Parts: sequence; structure tokens; C-alpha cells
Amino acid sequence: MQGVTQGGQASYVANPYLVDEKRRLVPKMKINNIDQNTLHFELHNTDLTIANALRRIIISEVPTMAIDIVEIEENTSALHDEFLAHRCGLIPLFSIDVDNFSYHDKCQCMYANCEKCSVKFDLIVNNTQNDIYEVTSNDIYPKNPNVSVVPCKLMNNKGEPEDPITIMKLGKHQQMNFRLLARKGIGRQHAKWSPVATCIMYKDPIVKIDDDRINQKLTKEQRKEFVKCCPRKVFNFDELKNVVEVESADKCNLCNECYSFARTHGQEKGVHITENDTMFHFIIEGTGAIPPVEIVKRAFKILKTKINNLSSDLMESIKGNVNQMGF
Ligand code: SF4
Ligand SMILES: [Zn+2]
Repeated sequence: MQGVTQGGQASYVANPYLVDEKRRLVPKMKINNIDQNTLHFELHNTDLTIANALRRIIISEVPTMAIDIVEIEENTSALHDEFLAHRCGLIPLFSIDVDNFSYHDKCQCMYANCEKCSVKFDLIVNNTQNDIYEVTSNDIYPKNPNVSVVPCKLMNNKGEPEDPITIMKLGKHQQMNFRLLARKGIGRQHAKWSPVATCIMYKDPIVKIDDDRINQKLTKEQRKEFVKCCPRKVFNFDELKNVVEVESADKCNLCNECYSFARTHGQEKGVHITENDTMFHFIIEGTGAIPPVEIVKRAFKILKTKINNLSSDLMESIKGNVNQMGF
């Protein structure tokens, strides 16, 4: 709370950032690490409400395509139909063009499954050999070869292709003959539509050590043990200076091991662990459906639309109330 004077009267505002231009926060992003499917970025100068809204939208509101209907003509494999249908649903489909599709329940085709709201695939395998045949996501073929929505082909960090996703192993004379239908959806309906495998968000940790207590009162051996007790390697022991230093505070996961160590060695206030309320770390691991940077861009767009809708609703509601009151 902060006091401000308006027209000679003192009044208080809940958020001083709104009235003090110099203290107004300007959000910023910094990318720390990026590859084909993972992204680690920092979000600065914002608060928990915005960061958490972004996290929730990334997980459950960025649309993708996923297999939603499986028609089974033949299944003589060792697994029953429902099990295989569920496995097919969880195969990520490359969904960069998902915005070109309509949601099935809002499409003008009225549940007929047209090309605007769905993509059709075949999965037909008949094992005629003596060896086991491994049915994978590579056996799923779109009926329309020009469509961009296909099972994801992932690359590892070295740029080499990863193994396709195994669906089932077929013995001799076993076969699978499936029609698959992919539709647009969001993770809130079913996890198979979520574009991410994980989306972690945490406040930036602040780790400080008290020199007098850790570097003066602990013995050299104890200082080395103190460094080792941190499972995240936040501290470093500088052999030349003979002191403990904080090396990578951002790796801290707030486990409190260092605090317990200091306390059991009589230096309770030797280490201070707090969090920065205006800076957040995000670690996103995509499923391959949409590149991670694109996921974040789309999530921001959704968040912006929500805020704009809320703002126009509020203006409408204020207008309605003013009219009712006859101003
Ligand atoms: S709280 Fe845990 S992770 Fe963080 S610095 Fe201490 S020991 Fe390391
Ligand atoms: Zn349709």
C-alpha cells in the first residue's frame, strides 16, 4: 500500500506500480536453452498470476491435432481393441497447421468429418513372415498425401532421427487393419491434445551465504562437505581463496539440504534461500506436435485474447450499469 495525495486528500492504492511510472514493471523474456523439442526461458518483471496463467495455457489450451476415432476392421494381435485405440490416440501428430482446421463440433459439416475438421489415416499391417513385426507410427499413412498432419518424426540432440513409436508387435499371421481419424482439440479435453510432455515453471531462487558463518566458522573440510551436500551443485569451493561461493543459484530446487547442514554444524543463519517474486523459469518439453517456441507464442496470443475479452466485457458491464443509473 502506498499513500498518494490527490486534490489535497490522502488516498491509498493497492498497487503502487500503477501510479508510479518509474516503478512500472516492463516484462521481458530471455531464452537460456533451446533445441528441437525443449525450451528453457526466463520471464522477468511480471508476477505469479501472469506466469501461472501462461503455464496453464501452454499445457491445456494450445490446440493440436490427435487421433480421436479408431475404426477397427481386423485385430488379431495379442492386445484388445480398446488398448490399441488408446495407444494410437497418444501418438503425437505434427500440428503446425492446426489453425487451418475447425473444431469438429463447430464445423459446418455437422458431424460428417470433412477435410476442414479431420484428417484420415490407414494403419494396415499383415505379418506374413516368421519373424516378429514391430508396428510403429511409421505404419500410419494419411489418405491425403498432401496433408501436413502426420505422425511426428523426432530428432535427438545430435540431429539424428529417433526411433518411431511402437504400437504393437505382431507374430506370424497376425494383422491389424484400422481406420484412424484425427481431430483438433485442446489438452483440457484430453491430455493427448496437449502440445507438451512437461511444462515446469518456478520462481527464480536467490541463494546467499553468510561469509562470517560459512567461510570463517566452518573448517575447510566442513566447507567442502557443505558444497557436496547440495544435490544441484549450486555451490563451488574455490581452492585458491579457500572459500565457498554461490555458482549457479538458478539450479536450486529449494530442497533445504544446505540449510540443514549449516544448522547441524551450529550455523543456522549461514545460508539464506528465498525466491524472486518477479522472475520465473520455464522448462518446456514438447511432444513434437508444435515447436516449443511456437507453443509459447500461441499461448501468449491466447492469453492476450482472454484479457482483451475480459476488458471489453468489463467496459460493457460498466456501460450497462451507468445507463441503468441514468447518468
Ligand atoms: S536448497 Fe537444496 S538445491 Fe538449493 S542450494 Fe540448498 S542444497 Fe542446493
Ligand atoms: Zn467438418
